[in-house]
Amino acid sequence: AKGAAMVTAVAYRLTEQARQIQQTMAEFRLSKAQLLEVKKRMRVEIERGLKKDSHKEATVKMLPTFVRSTPDGTENGDFLALDLGGTNFRVLLVKIRGGKKRSVEMHNKIYAIPIEVIFTAVPSLLFLFLDKDLLFDHIVHCISDFLDYMGMKSARLPLGFTFSFPCHQTSLDAGILVTWTKGFKATDCEGEDVVELLRDAIKRKEEFELDVVAIVNDTVGTMMTCAYEEPTCEVGLIAGTGSNACYMEETKNIEIVDGTEGRMCVNMEWGAFGDNGCLDDIRTRYDQAVDENSLNEGKQRYEKMCSGMYLGEIVRQILIDLTKRGFLFRGQISETLKTRGIFETKFLSQIESDRLALLQVRAILQQLGLDSTCDDSIIVKEVCGTVSRRAAQICGAGMAAVVDKIRENRGMDHLDITVGVDGTLYKLHPHFSRIFQQTVKELAPKCDVNFLLSEDGSGKGAALITAVGCRQRELEAQ
Ligand code: BGC
Ligand code: MG
Repeated sequence: AKGAAMVTAVAYRLTEQARQIQQTMAEFRLSKAQLLEVKKRMRVEIERGLKKDSHKEATVKMLPTFVRSTPDGTENGDFLALDLGGTNFRVLLVKIRGGKKRSVEMHNKIYAIPIEVIFTAVPSLLFLFLDKDLLFDHIVHCISDFLDYMGMKSARLPLGFTFSFPCHQTSLDAGILVTWTKGFKATDCEGEDVVELLRDAIKRKEEFELDVVAIVNDTVGTMMTCAYEEPTCEVGLIAGTGSNACYMEETKNIEIVDGTEGRMCVNMEWGAFGDNGCLDDIRTRYDQAVDENSLNEGKQRYEKMCSGMYLGEIVRQILIDLTKRGFLFRGQISETLKTRGIFETKFLSQIESDRLALLQVRAILQQLGLDSTCDDSIIVKEVCGTVSRRAAQICGAGMAAVVDKIRENRGMDHLDITVGVDGTLYKLHPHFSRIFQQTVKELAPKCDVNFLLSEDGSGKGAALITAVGCRQRELEAQ
């Protein structure tokens, strides 16, 4: 009888434990009603960003980009492109040939931000503390190396600068950095025109001349790249280290821009959605912990719930909590689990892969330095799946707001549209893109949304925008 009682007690403890774990996971499971609410709130913030009276306080900034059309296939010439703010820093040469036999040829080189430029670097996270002149001198040093490598030092090429951070633009070639995101930090850059910083650094170097034509957000580069292949593409999405979208808005709706004719691409900077507290009811204490542990506390709250840089951190916060409560890792919090940034997108993607047996999940955890039992690995996999599902869903809710807004702009009952997409989370994760697409479909039933993967949007797109910019300038000069 005593034995039976003990078995019952153990069974009770196990079910009670399972119940509590499920209760924790439930905080991340959003109903359709909740997702519709996220969509609705995104729409409210979109309007705030667009309207002159509310733009200043708006959290979703809806920044004008001065890109007024997508490519038409006549773009032509050789262009340099820079790509800063994604996974790698790169310099590219892009040769675009227009007309009947359209082609784009690209050469690129990846550069590290070397250690002597970095004051502090925490491995595996993009925690960079740079001095602004050092940062831009280094960028110009890389361009110099690249031009030597390509044998093009004397060419004075037009350049497009993909700079994947929020910039307040007053023209195609002027962009004041609003704030760093994604763990990047360089002192003194905020409030400065990064195009000027680049031009100054090129002058300091006195080795070559370049014509900086455009500053480009990665979402815009992605949209333009896809639009080059598919003219119905009028939206760009990045679901990677960071999260953001852009789309073609009616110029008359962008109240801080003069003019009422035609359309202009707006860089939404939707990562900051929720910074005014409007998502507090769905944010969990784990989201709060991730925010408190970040370099930009209180900022980019939506991005911190749905982008690659933070998903692993949310998972880690949950695992720490479950361990403290004795449900995981025999109640022992290892040094590994205390380490920021251990769960990169790549690992989450592996853990969630359907083809993986539990033994392999354990092997991955082992690789990360986490000793797990079979039960542990089941729980870890479920935590990862729950966190990434919510990410895909709220990202989809944001996109549903965007496509419905475009549909309403055009007074249509039904809209067919293409979204150009890039980003490691979207491309690498086994489930993110499917759940994201499903959510858009459910929440914006009046839109038929086609998703197109972008091939190197940051490079090609910057060159296309530069080409369009050069053409606009010639027209204006006539
Ligand atoms: C930045 C955006 C960028 C996005 C994707 C965000 O953190 O604020 O400008 O488009 O990341 O790279
Ligand atoms: Mg990129």
